[in-house]
Amino acid sequence: MCGVFGIFGTPDAAALTHLGLYALQHRGQESAGIVTVDLNGAAHPIRAMGLVSEAIPASAIAPLIGDVAIGHTRYSTAGSSTVENAQPIMARFKGGVIALAHNGNLTNASEIRAELEEQGSIFTSTMDSEVLLHRLARSNHEDPIQRLTDALEGVEGAYSIVVLINQTLLAARDPRGWRPLVLGRLGESIIATSETCALDIVNATLLREVQPGEIVAIEAGEIRTVQAFEVQPLKKCVFEHVYFARPDSQIFGHSVDRARRALGRQLARECPAPGSDLVFAVPDSSNAAALGYAEESGLPLELALIRNHYIGRTFIQPTQSGRIAKVKVKYNAVREVLDGRSVVMIDDSIVRGTTTRGLVKMIRDAGAREVHMRVSSAPVTGPCWYGIDTPRKEELIASARNVTEIGDALGVDSLGYLSIDGMLSSVPGGPTGFCDACFSGNYPTEPPADLVSGRAYGC
Ligand code: AMP
Repeated sequence: MCGVFGIFGTPDAAALTHLGLYALQHRGQESAGIVTVDLNGAAHPIRAMGLVSEAIPASAIAPLIGDVAIGHTRYSTAGSSTVENAQPIMARFKGGVIALAHNGNLTNASEIRAELEEQGSIFTSTMDSEVLLHRLARSNHEDPIQRLTDALEGVEGAYSIVVLINQTLLAARDPRGWRPLVLGRLGESIIATSETCALDIVNATLLREVQPGEIVAIEAGEIRTVQAFEVQPLKKCVFEHVYFARPDSQIFGHSVDRARRALGRQLARECPAPGSDLVFAVPDSSNAAALGYAEESGLPLELALIRNHYIGRTFIQPTQSGRIAKVKVKYNAVREVLDGRSVVMIDDSIVRGTTTRGLVKMIRDAGAREVHMRVSSAPVTGPCWYGIDTPRKEELIASARNVTEIGDALGVDSLGYLSIDGMLSSVPGGPTGFCDACFSGNYPTEPPADLVSGRAYGC
């Protein structure tokens, strides 16, 4: 997954983008980058591996001059984790500079790439997003909106993008609206970014969402907009509300905190745990759901797991051995809370089951008498083709097991998942208009051609 940020109309464009990327760190921790374009049309890029603080140290900001900037945080789901695949991607073409930062996953990128290669194009990365850069450069239109419309014509799948064509900032969202993208204002400056928490960090105010199928151009303080593509049946990613977005953000027009609490309340209704002594969250992504579960069930909410905040998300590690070791590095149990108690552990999702297995052992070692696991989403049964990094189908613990078998594999006393209907109906703005493909198997597009045994790709 990825986070994108773009800003037009301030000499502090790079510094504000840098701050915005800090707020989007949860959306990608492998690489980060910023591109600015100055008043002479010269581009100033920085892209490097690591967290924002490592990839873009404060000392790197001053040389990034210009009143317009875009930035990106990346977790690779398409292509490998190398600096060639860091974003924003940038090129110089006959019309000047183009740069692009992408969140989502294009499902027909390999066909488009093959077509372009047939015509002589060469690529510098293995990312799906690079086809958009080529198409932007090849359009014959002078107008930036028309150029971007040309580039996106026939492109399938998920994209929330920010683009620079010289000093014009553009923002666009695919016609099904898979990934969030909002517009904000800071004084005379306009911002386009993945989540509202990136507006908050720079003291900007939310204007509105970029609409599915819309292209917005910001130039000389003016916002121009066109509905470039007809809106398709909406497929907003429900997993953004379940896990991915920050709870202090509003996405798809609704508070993530409210959504997670509602998921937790619904979970308590569907999967109560009578006789338990307390409920606790797997921090941090499940905190709000656990609050909702506690409110609805009347069980006391306790802090039974402490998370080390100085390492990244366990899942966001390219190798399995890295993930196993990091469960212990990331969490520790509070014996005083758990000893002799029957406990309800809330997590927002179970993917491979690696985290849960490690946690259940930890909770039992700390003296818990019974461990009842409750999950504030449905079983993840298939990969995401639209930008969330879920592994190959055969690596998913729920792809070939029923709930009892999963519970046994995890070593819990009982296991309860939220139903798909319960999940969709408790998310604000639901129950229709959401993509639940990774839970239901209802994929709204053809599979990506180069999908290798169910492996997701994209960003
Ligand atoms: P697993 O150990 O593979 O079952 O991973 C589940 C844990 O990772 C849960 O605690 C989730 O909060 C978190 N998680 C779920 N999906 C993702 C994802 N796509 N990327 C990173 N973390 C995730």
